[in-house]
Amino acid sequence: MNLEGRLFLEDEVIDINKLKRIKAIEITNHKQLCFRCGNNDGELFFKSPCSNCGSEECLYCRNCIIMGKMTECRELFYLPSEISIAHKKQQYLVWEGQLSHGQQVASDAVHQAVINKKNLLLWAVAGSGKTEMMFKGMEEVLKNGGRLCVASPRVDVCLELFPRLQEVFPAVEMVCLYGDSPDVYNGERFIVATTHQLIRFYEAFDVIFIDEADAFPYAKDPFLEYAVKKAQLKQGCSVFITATPERKWQKECSIGKRNFVKVPARYHRKKLPVPQKIWIGDWKKTLKKRKISTKVLKWIQKKLAEGCPVLLFFPEIKVMLEVATILEFLGFGPLLTVHSADPERKEKVQQMRDGTIKLLCTTTILERGVTFTNVQVGVFGSEGRIFTESALVQIAGRAGRKSDYPGGDVLFFHHGVSRNMGLAIAQIKLMNRLGMQKGLLDGN
Ligand SMILES: [Zn+2]
Ligand SMILES: [Zn+2]
Repeated sequence: MNLEGRLFLEDEVIDINKLKRIKAIEITNHKQLCFRCGNNDGELFFKSPCSNCGSEECLYCRNCIIMGKMTECRELFYLPSEISIAHKKQQYLVWEGQLSHGQQVASDAVHQAVINKKNLLLWAVAGSGKTEMMFKGMEEVLKNGGRLCVASPRVDVCLELFPRLQEVFPAVEMVCLYGDSPDVYNGERFIVATTHQLIRFYEAFDVIFIDEADAFPYAKDPFLEYAVKKAQLKQGCSVFITATPERKWQKECSIGKRNFVKVPARYHRKKLPVPQKIWIGDWKKTLKKRKISTKVLKWIQKKLAEGCPVLLFFPEIKVMLEVATILEFLGFGPLLTVHSADPERKEKVQQMRDGTIKLLCTTTILERGVTFTNVQVGVFGSEGRIFTESALVQIAGRAGRKSDYPGGDVLFFHHGVSRNMGLAIAQIKLMNRLGMQKGLLDGN
């Protein structure tokens, strides 16, 4: 068993003598810190009788209890990751594809960041082909006998990335780790994992690539930020990849405080569809009368008649179900609804992909990660608070992804324009302008 980079409890390893040790819960000046998860909130520590040390009042961390109880009497063991001379090779990447000009610029920036061990934000619009931009940087880590991790807050992203990466790095032992994954870590030098899994690592990776860096729950969970830092070697770096960095990061970029590279254009060199705002009045009131604005209905009708699939986003499940019922009553079917807790989510998305249904109603759960050819996108009640700037940019990014159908409608059906709607539209327009300036777009 190869132990490098992983954090262990005493009973998880046979011989702890070769390992370094660290206190599981650090207590200084009555302040506690759980080393494993980074929790330092006093209210998340509790005392209980302990079978390990026999104390009646042994402190433990509630924040990471799902991974097994971490008590103050315990220690964690680890072996820092080391460069493997045996793994130093000239070439690892087997890929025949061509990078677009925009991808090439980003790929070089990633490569440089890896060489200089400097954090980088890769700000690339939806549909620009992010994965390929990482290949060269990844190979650089492997060539030097280092370890790397591709992490995403979303399991589906991990599952999609893993086979693609295996294909282009066929000579590398790779493992895919998530909540209930069948694989276990055994010292592999290339890991694809959910950000949560990083909690189990320490001083492990030369470079961590974090895909969809802004996606829930990473952005909102400070513990995961801690986990990323902890899992990375001190002399390593991280590459954050997103189409929609949070405002704070955007600001840091504009004032020169954050190292970043921007890819404002899609791989197919066509402009991003710019959302249009359509006022539909007080739709809540209208819904109470079991009605929907004719502007919405006419648009759906037209698009379906043209043979295009229609993806309709809603601010909440209740509204979605109400609208779906009315649409069905009006003969707009067959249609399906989908939300995060829907056990048939995957099957429904597949039906939309296959074209067996043409109208899919959804919550923000499908704001990213899905591609439907020639899809037309509507956002019902787009002023809703759940539709943040990044959510709206991601939603708009569903349209026009395929080179055969690079256009498509993105309509914001609203009752009053929200600040986020304005910001999202401004960001998309800015990206298109940048794409033109940099010569990454064709014509008009
Ligand atoms: Zn104890
Ligand atoms: Zn903890």
